[in-house]
Amino acid sequence: MTGRPALSGATEVAGVIGSPIRHSLSPALFNAAFAALGLDWAFLAFEVAPGAAAGAMAGFRALGLRGLSVTMPHKSAVAGLADRLTPAAARLEAVNSVYWSGSEVVGDSTDGAGFIDSLAAEGVDPAGLSCAVLGAGGAARAVVVALAGAGVSEVVVINRSPEAARRAAALGGDRARTGPPEEAAGAALVVNATPLGMGGDPRMALDPALLRAGQVVVDLVYHPLTTPLLAAAAERGARPIGGLGMLVHQAGHQLRAWTGLDPPLGAMEAGAAAMLEGSRFSG
Ligand code: NAP
Repeated sequence: MTGRPALSGATEVAGVIGSPIRHSLSPALFNAAFAALGLDWAFLAFEVAPGAAAGAMAGFRALGLRGLSVTMPHKSAVAGLADRLTPAAARLEAVNSVYWSGSEVVGDSTDGAGFIDSLAAEGVDPAGLSCAVLGAGGAARAVVVALAGAGVSEVVVINRSPEAARRAAALGGDRARTGPPEEAAGAALVVNATPLGMGGDPRMALDPALLRAGQVVVDLVYHPLTTPLLAAAAERGARPIGGLGMLVHQAGHQLRAWTGLDPPLGAMEAGAAAMLEGSRFSG
């Protein structure tokens, strides 16, 4: 790590908006990246109340912030506030990252690309695989679109609320459908996109008896790094993959759009992992 220069009038600023935002990992990820790259940039977290995204976006433009991450509850609102959306953001009607293209403010969604990159980093190519996605919220929707785009043989969306499952599956086109939890047993790749198992929650999104040797089981939950589902997957001979890789890779896509530089993924992962292991992060 080369370390960042002292803050000055020349320091460029990026940030994240959301509510609640105090425990966001984004400052750890991006400030670690700026330090590793020796950039005179700083990344801050901004608490923006529900309904106040328009004001925050006006601030982004007026202050000339260089990049903006967007998290709950503002992802949909910001999709309506950018000058232009990338195809991924338009498909999902949600934005997790904002960048400048000349004088245009562009809204992007990097979760799907980050998910696929995190699989590639583990040597997993989803092309041709049968997949099961547990959950149908924002993360699940991004994963369904990404898996369909990566050429999987099928994606089964398994979710508590059937209507949300249908809407998520519709995003995957003719390769996606809804199904009952038992269908996860037949999938080569199982992805948990529910919050179950987070922060000491002992629950799993799936009966572990449905897991088997040979499967790849990805948990998008990254706190703790080893969730109850991942522990059960390993016990049953499946291959567990945690959610930190997706978090780092989706941030890498954001950083590249803001700076034009290759993201220092190792430094970003170390920054996030150090915060997760410390006591400052609680959810
Ligand atoms: P979300 O939009 O709120 O969706 C949550 C989903 O989980 C919904 O489908 C919901 O089902 C389901 N769910 C919630 N509680 C449940 C319960 N008790 N039993 C069964 N299903 C339940 O959340 P999200 O933004 O998609 O995030 C989901 C998880 O992914 C979070 O833990 C988040 O931290 C993680 N995530 C990780 C990354 C990463 O980079 N690793 C990125 C994004 C998100 P209903 O439709 O029935 O309500």
